[in-house]
Amino acid sequence: MPRPRRRKDQPFELPLVPRRRGILYPNTTGAILVGRRTTLRAIDMATEGEGMVAVVTQRDPALSDLSPYDLYPYATEATIQRALRLPDGTTQLWVQGFRRLKILELRGGEPFYRVLVQPLDDPTDTTVPTEALRRAVLALFEKVARLSPSVPDDAYIMAMNIEYSGWLADYVASSLSLDDEEAQDLLGTLDVRERLEKLSIHLAKELDVLELQGKIHSRVQEELDKSQREYFLREQMKAIQRELGETDPAARDAYDMRERITAAGMPEAIAKKAEDELRRMEQIPSASPEVGIIRGYLEWLVTVPWSKSTDDRIDLIEAAKVLDKHHYGLPKVKERILEYMAVRQLAKEKHRSPILCFVGPPGVGKTSLGRSIAEALGRRFVRVSLGGIRDEAEIRGHRRTYVGALPGRIIHGMRQAGTVNPVFMLDEVDKVGADFRGDPSSALLEVLDPEQNHAFSDHYLDVDYDLSKVMFITTANILDPIIPALRDRMEVIELPGYIEDEKLHIAQQFLVPKQLEEHGLSRLQLTFTASALKKIIREYTREAGVRNLEREMGGICRKVARRFAENPTTKVSVSVPSLEALLGPQKFFWGSAEEKDQVGVATGVARTEMGGDVLGVEVTLMPGKGSLMLTGQLGEVMRESAQAALSYARSRSRELHIPPEVFEKNDIHVHVPAGAVPKEGPSAGITIATAMISALTRRPISRHVAMTGEITLRGRVLPVGGLKEKILAAHRAGIKTFVLPKRNEKDLLDVPPAVLSELHFVFAGDMSEVLRAALDPIQAGEA
Ligand code: ADP
Repeated sequence: MPRPRRRKDQPFELPLVPRRRGILYPNTTGAILVGRRTTLRAIDMATEGEGMVAVVTQRDPALSDLSPYDLYPYATEATIQRALRLPDGTTQLWVQGFRRLKILELRGGEPFYRVLVQPLDDPTDTTVPTEALRRAVLALFEKVARLSPSVPDDAYIMAMNIEYSGWLADYVASSLSLDDEEAQDLLGTLDVRERLEKLSIHLAKELDVLELQGKIHSRVQEELDKSQREYFLREQMKAIQRELGETDPAARDAYDMRERITAAGMPEAIAKKAEDELRRMEQIPSASPEVGIIRGYLEWLVTVPWSKSTDDRIDLIEAAKVLDKHHYGLPKVKERILEYMAVRQLAKEKHRSPILCFVGPPGVGKTSLGRSIAEALGRRFVRVSLGGIRDEAEIRGHRRTYVGALPGRIIHGMRQAGTVNPVFMLDEVDKVGADFRGDPSSALLEVLDPEQNHAFSDHYLDVDYDLSKVMFITTANILDPIIPALRDRMEVIELPGYIEDEKLHIAQQFLVPKQLEEHGLSRLQLTFTASALKKIIREYTREAGVRNLEREMGGICRKVARRFAENPTTKVSVSVPSLEALLGPQKFFWGSAEEKDQVGVATGVARTEMGGDVLGVEVTLMPGKGSLMLTGQLGEVMRESAQAALSYARSRSRELHIPPEVFEKNDIHVHVPAGAVPKEGPSAGITIATAMISALTRRPISRHVAMTGEITLRGRVLPVGGLKEKILAAHRAGIKTFVLPKRNEKDLLDVPPAVLSELHFVFAGDMSEVLRAALDPIQAGEA
């Protein structure tokens, strides 16, 4: 590199070339674009003389007029090698840096700027630390040069050949892309060792960045190569398949799916979403698990009904016929269903018709009534059970991010229905619970609310689904557990259960033909006598509905069908004597299980999920210290009833002819079978009291009497709930006398007349009336 003639080390004046950006280091070359008039004049001036200028960088690139503060304090002495005037009036200048300068003073402005400068020569520093630093810088620079695309490959060779450490530092600094502040700092660092140190820090940083960049780049490249490779292979495969006349199964699949999306009649926005998903699926390699997930989702979208519907047939006379065709009796229920249908038809969309809710024990025909409504309207029928649901996701589904996610039961039901307007039966709404996984009843409210259900959101489908055309019917065994918000929306129709006579008719007219048909038998091959049916009802079932009855008959049909398979000529008539051979020993005792009246055993009745049932209460005395023992899984309220019963008996011991010492010398044990079933409620109060007093007085209780009622300490009998079910249960069990609280008399209005005429009712206001009805009279001389 040519070195200009050296000047004396005295301050001297030079024309100024200010740069807006970039630093010119000593012993390096640079290009500067000059546009300012004053600078152009300075160049003219310089070229007329020795061609030397001072190149300095401005602190603020935007400034045009200069003051001393606007310039960095160190400049570079340079010779102009070439100046090229460009057509736009600017000049391109090539300069060769020479020495460091310290600016002492800024002079002039017109016609050009000059600076008074002090030249600074790099000291020659060959000490060991400097040499070590120099080698470190060289080593780092070698790596940077190798990695950096902006440093020319031969720059390292060049650097290696530079003899002076200061010069080396300047050369290396010029090839790095430092910002002006950093570069100027290096220019201003006169101590060579310090300059090398600073530089090595910059180099190390640069190296870090370059290495990281390299890593990222190679990873990106790898991915790209892989996907490109896959793409080409897949394209090739397609081409080969085309040649062989086979089409790509994935492409065929996508084609089919696209057709199905078009055919599904979805709302536009949803069709678009489906199309987007399909496109996404096509872009993913078919082996990816994601494809299966999207496919499953699309499958749901296209199979759920969006627009397909059945035409409503609204002919109330026809509807009445359909209801009668499948159901015996139930005149009030049928009437209310027809009224409901009439209102719905008249009001159409304007009216927010409530949801029908059938409440009653199992097997009373709730489901089959729903089916008949659907048949009468010409709609499809679906049924979904909500029993035991505790998780909102059971109704609304899981989000697709969840592994194995699926839609909820509502969307499942809709898919099963295949039309947008089915009759949709939600079974067991009384068994919907809530826990930490969310409250399913709020989701249920949304489903049933006509204001909201036109945009039902299922987490899996992730698009609004319109349920507004669906006719929902709910069912429940008991009304009480249904949350009030839900109960408000519903029109409750109660089906308390059938009496024996009704069951017999149902069996003869409906169940027998149905079972015969199901088992491929004809009326000529198998008949049931009425007395046999009655015996099945009484001794093989004890239920409010007819479900078990139907099951027992099914059992008989199966056995008979087998006999026919073995010997086709036989003809079977099921009669009372042949029953035991077909169904085994009787399962229930009709009337009373006891041969004669017992001491300490009273018959109560309870309302249960199954309607109602009779339950015995047993009390025994044994020598002891007067403690009360209660067993049979009794709830808190029932235990308290037992306490109250005992206190009543003690306080009335004289009237009841109980010697006072009996209480001190005996333990009293109250047991309510069946021991494994939890029992609760106050309505067994009078039953427990009766059993207890019977045990204490040794007076037997009539086995034909059943009772229900709450007892107070003073022996008053308070009203209880579920009377209708309880009376039916007592009647079913063959009870003759029914003792109930006086204030429950009004409940008899709902009881079928056949039952009223067959049962003798005792309305008790006080415990003494209960005892009079239940206990055998005191024998003369006994008291
Ligand atoms: P639920 O839904 O109340 O549990 P289902 O509707 O399943 O009861 O009824 C059980 C069986 O009893 C069905 O086969 C049904 O047809 C029959 N059934 C119930 N009530 C009647 C009735 N009143 N007339 C004719 N069959 C009936």
